[in-house]
Amino acid sequence: MECIFCNIIDHKAEAEIIFEDEHVLSFLDIQPVNYGHVLVIPKTHYDNFLTVPKDELGKLIHATQFLAGVVKRSLNADGFNVISNNGNPAGQSVYHFHFHIIPRFNNDFTLKPKTKIYGSGTMPEYGNQIRSFISKYKDIYNG
Ligand code: AMP
Ligand code: ZN
Repeated sequence: MECIFCNIIDHKAEAEIIFEDEHVLSFLDIQPVNYGHVLVIPKTHYDNFLTVPKDELGKLIHATQFLAGVVKRSLNADGFNVISNNGNPAGQSVYHFHFHIIPRFNNDFTLKPKTKIYGSGTMPEYGNQIRSFISKYKDIYNG
């Protein structure tokens, strides 16, 4: 399966590379939300957040934290978003897992979606529904 991010890793496609080590590659997003919008990807192909092995994810998050600080300081940003879109409804368009680091400046734009209000008594129902899966998946967490 053709993957544009794998092609960037393999130097078959061009990118404005910011950082690279054994496990991680970071480059500028070609359609930035703000100038200096950076992507951080594992050098191995995984489709989404749920399929990245724990050790690899640790390295990726470590690099993302480092690069978020670098982006913020180098561009004199007032803040930043670290975002990961997973699945079509969440806006994922490239199915090679990545974090976005978006530098943010005072009064640049609003990303906040319209929020919902829990109906009477429904918040614990959502809590129960989600908690009931914690025990089912505990082995994955501990493994
Ligand atoms: P997402 O929509 O969360 O999957 O993010 C994918 C991101 O990859 C988008 O913001 C695209 O602009 C960006 N993108 C796609 N192709 C390239 C490319 N060749 N070089 C740099 N960024 C890319
Ligand atoms: Zn890939």
